[in-house]
Amino acid sequence: MNLKSGYPYWLLKHGLPNTYPSLKKNHKCEVLVIGGGISGVLTAYHLTKAGMEVTQVDGRHFGTGSTCASTALIQYETDRHLTDLAEMYGKDKAIKCHELTLTAVNDLSKLIKLHNIECEFKNRDSLYLASTLKDKAKLTREYEARLEAGFELELWDKAKIESKFPFSAPAAIWSKNGAELNALKLTYALLKINSRLGVSLFDGTRVVQINKTKGKYEATTNHDTKIQCRHIVIACGYESELFLQNKISSLNSTYALVSEPVLPSDLWYRSCLIWETARPYIYMRTTSDNRIVVGGKDEPFYNPKKRDSLLNKKTKDLTRSFVKKFPTVPFFPEFTWTGTFAETKDSLPYIDKYRGLIYVMGFGGNGITYSQMAGKLVADIIKGKNNPDLELFAFNR
Ligand SMILES: Cc1cc2nc3c(=O)[nH]c(=O)nc-3n(C[C@H](O)[C@H](O)[C@H](O)COP(=O)(O)OP(=O)(O)OC[C@H]3O[C@@H](n4cnc5c(N)ncnc54)[C@H](O)[C@@H]3O)c2cc1C
Repeated sequence: MNLKSGYPYWLLKHGLPNTYPSLKKNHKCEVLVIGGGISGVLTAYHLTKAGMEVTQVDGRHFGTGSTCASTALIQYETDRHLTDLAEMYGKDKAIKCHELTLTAVNDLSKLIKLHNIECEFKNRDSLYLASTLKDKAKLTREYEARLEAGFELELWDKAKIESKFPFSAPAAIWSKNGAELNALKLTYALLKINSRLGVSLFDGTRVVQINKTKGKYEATTNHDTKIQCRHIVIACGYESELFLQNKISSLNSTYALVSEPVLPSDLWYRSCLIWETARPYIYMRTTSDNRIVVGGKDEPFYNPKKRDSLLNKKTKDLTRSFVKKFPTVPFFPEFTWTGTFAETKDSLPYIDKYRGLIYVMGFGGNGITYSQMAGKLVADIIKGKNNPDLELFAFNR
């Protein structure tokens, strides 16, 4: 699949921190993780910590699928409101999903601190704006539902928003517990940790076929080498559906840009994450080197040629949207890119076993939060542990 084009800032800034050999001879392991983006490396980390012997392969260089294109806003708030999920699955399950995403954000933060990982991680509050007056009632219901469920948040009215920002909106939810990071740096730091913990790593190694014989799996690679293992985790991002042979998500095209650095005084209140109720939404964050990230303006198709042809127009649209909100900030886009972006119907991930293979499909705007959550859940799937949380992310939910 053609996952991205243009110049993802973090990939250009840091390049590839490391490379790994491709698999040139047959290999045996307990668990094979296919895919080495953020989902795969977090899964490999948690499985290794759970005492399993893990091998991980990636057909590209690790992290150069969707992960290097990610703008990496880390949020517990899912793209579908808690109130929407409550209508779909009942209040208890909707709250549970939000509790799990909140735990995942906190766990990720702890993991980064534990290993002293330098990945530009910063805790950030989040401002979720009502895009229109019509959305105010919906946003207020969401606030009430989350407050009742015990989440830490505030409802801001127009006056409060105007007192903190140079723009207005009918209402907003101000939430704690968000974060920002550099997903590529985090991925490579985890690869290093995983390697020390004993994970065998091979990049440039694409799995082209999987067979099962006598209770064991055999994965054939593009080098015609074989990997024999007891369990396989498919963490192939938006390419996972090629193994699943079922369509369970919709593919969109999304756009992002990073500005030239601005003065710290040009940045906004607490450098919070900013997003909105419109779908598709526009979002904004800052970087550790005082740049501004703006993204969104999604289009509902997977057509790389058409997607790429819109990059200049979308850059202008995103720039206009930013300047409208922050007219006095000297804003000059320096890096622009576009990528494919998969969404599920309910914005929740799929983390489940199907026909013997374990899938980690953390799609949507919370992809990275879901990747962290998946790592722990996959360990339970492999151990055969009856974890009721898995039901929330099952294919047949
Ligand atoms: C522009 C953009 C902005 C985003 N913003 C955010 C955000 O703000 N917050 C957030 O949480 N998420 C965001 N996301 C989503 C997030 O980036 C993804 O959910 C996440 O990176 C997916 O990671 P992954 O490891 O599942 O997939 P990937 O990073 O795509 O990794 C999958 C890997 O599997 C490999 N692979 C595929 N098939 C095979 C095979 N057969 N054999 C071997 N290897 C294979 C690929 O080469 C790839 O490296 C954004 C995405 C984009 C594109």
